[in-house]
Amino acid sequence: MSSICSIHYQADDVIFSEGEQGDCAYIIESGKVSILKNTDDGETCLATLQRGDLFGEMSMLDHADRTATAVADEDCTVIQITQEQLRNRLDNSDPALEVFIQLVLQRYRGLLHSARHIEFIPTRIDEGSNNKIWDTSARHKEALENLILENDLRVAIEEKQFVLFYQPIIDMDTLLPSGFEALIRWQHPEHGLIFPDRFLDIAEKSGLIVPIGEWVAYEASRALSRLQKGFSHVLDNNIQLSMNVNASGEQLVHERFVAQITALIASTGIQPENLKIEITESALVQQPEKAKVVLDGLKGLGVKTALDDFGTGYSSLNYLRQFPIDYLKIDREFVWSMLDNRIDQEIVVSVTELAHKLGMKVVAEGIESAEHLVMLKNMAVDYGQGYYFSKPQSEEDICRFLQADQASAIAC
Ligand code: C2E
Ligand code: CA
Ligand code: CA
Repeated sequence: MSSICSIHYQADDVIFSEGEQGDCAYIIESGKVSILKNTDDGETCLATLQRGDLFGEMSMLDHADRTATAVADEDCTVIQITQEQLRNRLDNSDPALEVFIQLVLQRYRGLLHSARHIEFIPTRIDEGSNNKIWDTSARHKEALENLILENDLRVAIEEKQFVLFYQPIIDMDTLLPSGFEALIRWQHPEHGLIFPDRFLDIAEKSGLIVPIGEWVAYEASRALSRLQKGFSHVLDNNIQLSMNVNASGEQLVHERFVAQITALIASTGIQPENLKIEITESALVQQPEKAKVVLDGLKGLGVKTALDDFGTGYSSLNYLRQFPIDYLKIDREFVWSMLDNRIDQEIVVSVTELAHKLGMKVVAEGIESAEHLVMLKNMAVDYGQGYYFSKPQSEEDICRFLQADQASAIAC
């Protein structure tokens, strides 16, 4: 990683020359710098810059040749900003910003060239190979596509284009469904059914996840109420179907989250203990104090919480003790690797034992075969979820699934 570097020049020193390739910009710390340009009328001074002024930034941004010469007017000190420093910042920002800078700069260069009656030479934004700062046009395309998708997402909220699918969560003792996880899909008018991996990131970054998440929680709770009413006669009397709803970090720390859940319970009439909010470790790590307040609030309501994708993040049960968590969901990758990896098997056994000692129930995700099921049952995992039992399905298909199941154990 490069550090900020100060350079001293004496009066009349050339800092850079027109036509050179530029890979850094400068900020004047002391002294004066003139920006000169060769024209048909001879050398013209475009500007005289002083302390605090920035120069040389255009070539640094688009890696094009310098279009002017910078000369120290007097003894001066400048701070050099390298492309690497800019690259680090761009990598941590929204890719759309990079596209905007790139386009504005390209248009500005075009204007400058035509104002000076010089043939416009486009900057090399699409040449990925030797252009270090603007890496590829694919990145550019993706950033613009994401902006369009964000706009479409706003329309989708207004026009109610989202649908929920439900995946059964199975009690490992009885092999009966104990509840469902609600999983969002977007019924896009042009692109068809879009899966959450494609749009949730954009929804989170734009804050749209908050209204989307609110819709999911309401819709899933209403579906739970319908399923409970429709199947109470089919299922064992002791079974109270429950609904798991995913909440992203943005939603969790939103000031109205607990109030929304309170209102939802009142309006749908579901029992709070049958609503389970799934959160990820990263959501807890981002803002632990706020997350703790929200989780305590949910506990106060009687709503249950589940820690999703356990095994992919920090996976520190000790750390998690600070939060009131009722269920631990072991990530599907862990379940898959467990079959031929003894260490992973031992980890699942130990995590399950420890979770039980801490008063949590364990759910295994991604059960795709009888082999997975048998192994996890022997490890005393409490609940299971995966394609072996059922893929996520529409509410209509879930009704058929429950009917066909007739409260009898799933064959294995
Ligand atoms: P997740 O919470 O880990 O959800 C489980 C994902 O695993 C679902 O993908 C499901 O279809 C898939 N899955 C379940 N069983 C199996 C299996 O046996 N094999 C395989 N290969 N996959 C299985 P989906 O529906 O594409 O959801 C992806 C992720 O999107 C979810 O991962 C969740 O993090 C997020 N998500 C979905 N709906 C919502 C939502 O309403 N709100 C928020 N914040 N996130 C959501
Ligand atoms: Ca989940
Ligand atoms: Ca998961």
